[in-house]
Amino acid sequence: MQERIGAAPDSQPPMNKPIPHTADVLIIGAGMAGLSAAAALQKSGRKTLIVDKSRGVGGRMATRRIEGATFDHGAQFATARDPRFVQVLEEARAAGAAVEWCRGFDGQPDGHPRWKGAPGMSSLAKHLAAGMEIIHGRQVLALSPAEDHWIATMADGETWSAAAVILTAPVPQSLAILEAGAVTLEPALEKRLSSIQYERCIAVMAVLDGPSRLPPPGGFAPAEGPIAWIADNQLKGISADPAITLHATHAVSVECWDHDRDETARRLLAAAAPWIGAGIKSFHVHGWRYSKPLQTDPLPCALVQNAPPLVLAGDAFGGPRMEGAALSGWAAAALL
Ligand SMILES: Cc1cc2nc3c(=O)[nH]c(=O)nc-3n(C[C@H](O)[C@H](O)[C@H](O)COP(=O)(O)OP(=O)(O)OC[C@H]3O[C@@H](n4cnc5c(N)ncnc54)[C@H](O)[C@@H]3O)c2cc1C
Repeated sequence: MQERIGAAPDSQPPMNKPIPHTADVLIIGAGMAGLSAAAALQKSGRKTLIVDKSRGVGGRMATRRIEGATFDHGAQFATARDPRFVQVLEEARAAGAAVEWCRGFDGQPDGHPRWKGAPGMSSLAKHLAAGMEIIHGRQVLALSPAEDHWIATMADGETWSAAAVILTAPVPQSLAILEAGAVTLEPALEKRLSSIQYERCIAVMAVLDGPSRLPPPGGFAPAEGPIAWIADNQLKGISADPAITLHATHAVSVECWDHDRDETARRLLAAAAPWIGAGIKSFHVHGWRYSKPLQTDPLPCALVQNAPPLVLAGDAFGGPRMEGAALSGWAAAALL
């Protein structure tokens, strides 16, 4: 499926032009890192084109609607330490796309704001993406350098051209794209990047027949057991109907990754029964193969080469959360 957002009506190439898309800066990935890089580049007058393999924007900032219930099933909340990221969230608040959720969980507020998208996390991404040229539903398979530009080979065989590229997919996926394009990395960089591993996370979204037993504000991280996080999306204020999100721990997600997903979901729902306290009308499962990086690179982004320019960015560089991804996207934009 392909959908263009904000494309100028005259931006379609003439019929005889062999390359369907030529970009000044091609940004692969419409998650927090890609959107932040695009915003910074646009401010400095560069023209950007974002491509993402999924149908919407946000990447791991994901919201899903099931049977009238709404779930954040990836990132749960944003924290902000850097004043520039605080400003992004304040601007989103002014636009009605983000609000403060709470100042801590487990009955122990620590005074630090936890932000949520309004209504869900993907609303924040949509707000950041407003006015940007984005092509959805297209997967980049390979990137290879030509004399003064990059050639991106898409899954359907099309080739696009770009003067510069920012690649924000999780690092193992980015490395696969470079390998497919026969890009050789400098050995020290190759070693650093190939050592970056990610947590996995099996997420269960369950529609309930009544309110859960979680107390406000509706988020809880159990200290032990198979569940890392449980959230009540109704208490969080994003779902009209009672709906909970469960995140399995990394260890359980790895252990169960190749098992029957419904069976794993039932095990997690049974473990969460004391907090659920209501009947389960239905459940859905999503597996995040690359949930959060277990290690992060010491640099805020990785310059693979200068001519033509290629930079890797994402939360594996800036830090394993939304703020880190934004900082990395800005750093990549500054390098270009
Ligand atoms: C279960 C879970 C819970 C989390 N909880 C929190 C939290 O509470 N707070 C917090 O701050 N962070 C949390 N995080 C982490 C946070 O979501 C990430 O750090 C951040 O969103 C990463 O942004 P990114 O832009 O680096 O990557 P992504 O969001 O992964 O964006 C990369 C994008 O690239 C696209 N892409 C990949 N390969 C290709 C390709 N070949 N062609 C085209 N497009 C491609 C993907 O579709 C995706 O949209 C959580 C993550 C998960 C999964």
